[in-house]
Amino acid sequence: MTATPRCPHRTARGQYRSSSRPTGSVLTKGKRVTSEPFRLAALPTLSRATAARDETARKDPERLDRLWKAGRVLLVDKQGRTPVRDGGTALAPRPALAVADERPAEAMLLGEQGDESYWVLSSDEQVRPIPAPPGAWSLWAGAESADGEQWHDLRGVGSLLDDTAAGLFTTAVGLVNWHARARFCAKCGSPVDRTAAGWASKCTGCGREEYPRTDPAVICLVHDGGDQVLLARQPIWPAHRYSVLAGFVETGESLEACVEREIAEEVGVQVTDIRYLGSQPWPFPRSIMIGFTATADPAAPLVPADGEIEHAHWVHRAKVVEALANGGQLPDLILPGETSIARQMVAGWAAHS
Ligand SMILES: [Zn+2]
Repeated sequence: MTATPRCPHRTARGQYRSSSRPTGSVLTKGKRVTSEPFRLAALPTLSRATAARDETARKDPERLDRLWKAGRVLLVDKQGRTPVRDGGTALAPRPALAVADERPAEAMLLGEQGDESYWVLSSDEQVRPIPAPPGAWSLWAGAESADGEQWHDLRGVGSLLDDTAAGLFTTAVGLVNWHARARFCAKCGSPVDRTAAGWASKCTGCGREEYPRTDPAVICLVHDGGDQVLLARQPIWPAHRYSVLAGFVETGESLEACVEREIAEEVGVQVTDIRYLGSQPWPFPRSIMIGFTATADPAAPLVPADGEIEHAHWVHRAKVVEALANGGQLPDLILPGETSIARQMVAGWAAHS
């Protein structure tokens, strides 16, 4: 296996620079040719963030109390939805003092931005389903509370939010999901207490500490070194939706070995020239998607994994470009939604020549 990880060059503000693109090579039909590798079209939607993660504040109760008084609180329900405004383009956090005069023990500190701190609390607000707002990834519907406030989830509106809101909502969903699934000690089974302003838990039985867990998953755009990309679909997806291939990293496995294994398992082809593209948190419930590209021989037979991949095929660059120009879809090809890193992978490849 050839593995050549190349980290995208990022500025301090988290945006990709347009210059200083790395050069590399791809293997095309057994012949190595010099080529400039493609990159993600943009920073993945859920990788955007601006609020400062203040690790030292998390264990300082007096400082946390002060931060609460100038805080704003994201409420997140069991479906991962939070109140939004302006058609899902902005969050609608509550002033902390309108939620509680004193900092609740279960309040989790997301970070600080300017003079404000941001927190998250789980909510049991009763809401009824409503359609997704215009521009949202329409796979995911929202909800409306009794007083008309709209609640939407991260997959639906993540791409509509600005950098600050996207980062806060992504971290909020990750923390809420971790606590909801880690209420008991993995070692002795006793209940755990929430500590460090939500960033740790401590077992009430054996004292074991745990921190928010993240499961790595690889996602890989496979191309032929020319003008074709390999796209596949799962049987449960809406008709005509296709994406690149992805899978969870197994224990004891490197990221590159996982890319090789997953693609062989899912579509039966061997890949070479595995190269790192970028990553994005995917807190559903607790993953990070680690993006790669690799090459494969388009003449090799595709063997979709039974029950996992319904169909896989090579798609020409011109068709992907046409779909992207048409909002990401054609009658027979719906590309990954804007919230997924897959969209930035496909768009980056399509724009490259
Ligand atoms: Zn324990």
